[in-house]
Amino acid sequence: MNQSKQKVKEQFHRFLSKKRLKATLQRSLILDAFLDLDRSTHIDELYLVLRGRHHHIGHATVYRALRLFIAAGIAREIYLGDGLTRYQVDGQGQRRDYLVCNDCGTVTEFDNSSTERHQDEAARTMGFTVQSLKIELRGLCSRCLTQQS
Ligand SMILES: [Zn+2]
Repeated sequence: MNQSKQKVKEQFHRFLSKKRLKATLQRSLILDAFLDLDRSTHIDELYLVLRGRHHHIGHATVYRALRLFIAAGIAREIYLGDGLTRYQVDGQGQRRDYLVCNDCGTVTEFDNSSTERHQDEAARTMGFTVQSLKIELRGLCSRCLTQQS
């Protein structure tokens, strides 16, 4: 396991003990799957990853665990306007932005950690912790643009 994953886990366990919540096996299995994916995911996908590992954890439990990850500051929600709530690990340098094509709906992730670090710092100086982001970088992907011209 790499160091940043270990840090995220430690942060989650500190949060649980502060809130007097149990570090259940299910919660740690869900967190493992979430961290192993290493990119943004949505609840159905995470559910299937867990099933693929033969962990039969109900949808509602996965959902509640994700809410806890957000409360613990180790995850955040992303809304791309397609009705799906995506979740992403909130760790240093792990944030991405998304380009959404208006035509074919393709979602492309790109690394924009430096801009986001500034946003985070600005929010923190106001005593604010960012828990969700709404990113709408919408336009046309190169393929759709070529087809239109
Ligand atoms: Zn397109």
